[in-house]
Amino acid sequence: MKNVDLMVHARWVVPVVPKAQVLEHYSVIIHQNRIIDLLPQQQAKDAYSASLEHDFEHHCIMPGLINNHTHAAMSLFRGLADDLPLMTWLNEHIWPAEAQFVSDHFVEDGSKLAIAEMLRGGTTCFNDMYFYPEATARVVEQSGIRASLGMTIIDFPTSWASSVEEYFQKGQQLHDQVRYSDRITTSYAPHAPYTVSDGPLETIITNAEELDVPISMHIHETASETNDAVAANGERPLSRLKNLGLLSPRLNAVHMTQLTDEEITWCAESGVNIVHCPESNLKLASGFCPIAKLVNAGVNVTLGTDGAASNNDLDMFAEMRQAALLAKAVAEDATAIPAATALEMATINGAKALGIDNLTGSLEIGKAADLIAIDFSQLETQPCYDVISQLVYATDRCYVTDVWVDGKHLLNNRQLTTLNNAEIIHNTQQWTQKIKQVNA
Ligand SMILES: [Zn+2]
Repeated sequence: MKNVDLMVHARWVVPVVPKAQVLEHYSVIIHQNRIIDLLPQQQAKDAYSASLEHDFEHHCIMPGLINNHTHAAMSLFRGLADDLPLMTWLNEHIWPAEAQFVSDHFVEDGSKLAIAEMLRGGTTCFNDMYFYPEATARVVEQSGIRASLGMTIIDFPTSWASSVEEYFQKGQQLHDQVRYSDRITTSYAPHAPYTVSDGPLETIITNAEELDVPISMHIHETASETNDAVAANGERPLSRLKNLGLLSPRLNAVHMTQLTDEEITWCAESGVNIVHCPESNLKLASGFCPIAKLVNAGVNVTLGTDGAASNNDLDMFAEMRQAALLAKAVAEDATAIPAATALEMATINGAKALGIDNLTGSLEIGKAADLIAIDFSQLETQPCYDVISQLVYATDRCYVTDVWVDGKHLLNNRQLTTLNNAEIIHNTQQWTQKIKQVNA
């Protein structure tokens, strides 16, 4: 009998790969942070002894969710300005508030709030785009979550960097700082086609190749973005990015609500990953990303919440459900994006887009132990005929009871083990007072 670190026994295990598989009365065997076996409970008990065992008689175990687009620290702006169109929201509210408040300290406290919320909602990895990513990196290290942190590039100065050169320099510093981390990777994060000019984009393409990192960018978020570009330059942004050579499997194109059939073909042929943020798009009335068409064309579609200022939460279960529902309405087809496909978008597809699918995104032997347990014994999750349908259409994040990342138990029966709930709420309330005074 082999002694291992941890055995998690569960009523149901949904490994995500292979697609739509549901294993009953199975155990996940974890040793030295990795999944080393996945087998029926009785066989597991015969073959292994563990220092620690969890029996989840009424739970479903699945891989942790991957939130492929966040601005974590913006959680401190949650609810600051709502019910406004994108450019009014950005120009008159968010950018002025950022100019006034965003600092290393703000980003640290905002990231703590965001990461605590994500862990309690079953998210084990996020792809962030924000300023002071070195502060977010500290919180990622402390909390135990997994992240891809953006090396943000934008043409105009902010409190974090005063020139494009400085953005590149600080991004490189971040990359050097986290290069030996087990849980942090980096990605280039040029803000959007209308805020980053050709020169920096060309540098990003070269640097991303050298560092072997992905690129994340807001693209075709609204009709006015594409219309303004056509009026100014006679060209849609995606066409400009294609000519620059940005369309490749490295690219995570965020939003993409405005897509012609020709542009969908470009995405499929070049291997671009799409980051669909249904709730943010709905709230800002940005438009509808045609994910059913994209999936049919063979494009890797992933999910993100966007920042809490435009969502207003970081709830990947809600995002998964919205994606599945919205896709049906947009495609006028109730069979579009079935539950098992939505589940892939929230897990393995995100891992692929970030280049970490060898490590996470599914429960497979050899991968890191990034997994979550969901309680199916509650009134709201009963009865259960179809586990995957239940996960996508009827599960709320509050039924996530336990979360492990890289084999570490970060949420234990709904309690955070590495972050201090009370301290986060206290710090958030202090920031709220300060921000309220100025934005009253
Ligand atoms: Zn965004």
